[in-house]
Amino acid sequence: MTAFENALVQLERAAKYAKVRPFIIERLRHPNRIVEASLPVAMDSGEERILTAYRVQHNNARGPYKGGIRFHPKVSKDEVQALGLWMAIKCAVANIPLGGGKGGVIVDSKQLSKAELERLSRGFVRAFKDILGPQLDVPAPDVYTTPEIMDWMADEYVKLTGDQKGRATFTGKPLEKGGSEGRGTATAQGGLYVLDAYAKAIGLDPNATITIQGFGNAGRTFAELASQVGYTIIAVSDSSGGLYNPQGLDVSAVESYKDEHRSLGGYPDAQSITNEDLLGCEADILVPAALEGQITGQNQYNVKARVILELANGPTTPEADIELLKRKIDVIPDVLANSGGVTVSYFEWEQNNKGEHWTAGDVDTKLKTMMADAFQTIHDRAKKDSIDMRTAAFAIALERIAEAT
Ligand code: NAD
Repeated sequence: MTAFENALVQLERAAKYAKVRPFIIERLRHPNRIVEASLPVAMDSGEERILTAYRVQHNNARGPYKGGIRFHPKVSKDEVQALGLWMAIKCAVANIPLGGGKGGVIVDSKQLSKAELERLSRGFVRAFKDILGPQLDVPAPDVYTTPEIMDWMADEYVKLTGDQKGRATFTGKPLEKGGSEGRGTATAQGGLYVLDAYAKAIGLDPNATITIQGFGNAGRTFAELASQVGYTIIAVSDSSGGLYNPQGLDVSAVESYKDEHRSLGGYPDAQSITNEDLLGCEADILVPAALEGQITGQNQYNVKARVILELANGPTTPEADIELLKRKIDVIPDVLANSGGVTVSYFEWEQNNKGEHWTAGDVDTKLKTMMADAFQTIHDRAKKDSIDMRTAAFAIALERIAEAT
């Protein structure tokens, strides 16, 4: 099944428990708008290439469309549609006044020079400027897009539209260019707050062991923050493969190695493993933080963790969800676990709109409260209806979207 088909199955499952009229479900099965563009990009060699880009505006009943832009060779219209639907659900779970959208470009951005990347980023804005805006559609970083890319995009948007307040169209900007304190660490920090709330609720050992798939903004920052509060990180991976040390990895040494070599492969103080091996490691907590569709009906038998904390979007398929539930492995769903990122994006948007700057302490206090509240609401609903946390999160989101609709 494709990512969007998986997202639709999740929607249908929750529809049985959400107190909403059937039209709301039907509405959410269809994105409001899908725009596809061909971006001409000049390469440093003088050659010109055409890249395919998408922006999906899924639903804006609760506020402007919100969702990241992904640069990856496997981007597809289907994937962007799935990510847009998940964003609509996530913003409602986080209880922020934003809708859901997503963007993507089919490109192997690792092969581009910085100048080519900048031309591509500015080209994306030229193609989509008419459907973007601070009160219309507000993108952010996602896989292989960065604060610097958001800065180029915001700059291009202001140049093209002349709207001096237009920088609020993009969140995840560098701090000195209108970004928010705490945005860089928000996805991981929010996930850690949710994990803490879960650990308290079920009595999980505070020194529990963790494996993390993906070592980018979400996974790497999570490794850093979780190790600082006492969790033991025993395995991590990136697109080149993984590292395993049952005694615990020295996270800062792994980070320095990754910075120097641009990949984890060859790190000396650990056993090298594949991404598939990582999913099967003996650990209390498994944190997928890379791409969707990683834990499937076929490989879920390998998972030995007590709980899966989904920092990635869509890492567990609906087929795997059913089996994991039977095996009493809890899944803390993406729409809750990684919603810290969009929550602080919302704070950034608010600060830009009001011309304010909140301190790191303000941002952290608000984030912690909102993540803990979101966890509690979902955990209570899951217990009350005897359902898994994903279905509970979707059901709550559907009711909130229905109310706004
Ligand atoms: P990133 O580009 O910073 O990092 C992606 C990481 O995944 C890299 O380490 C890469 O090497 C690794 N990777 C790629 N393919 C892999 C594979 N097949 N196996 C293992 N690792 C692989 O991206 P990110 O922002 O950390 O996003 C990761 C996930 O988190 C995505 O699903 C994204 O949608 C989700 N997410 C990110 C944010 C955010 O604020 N950055 C917010 C919410 C959700």
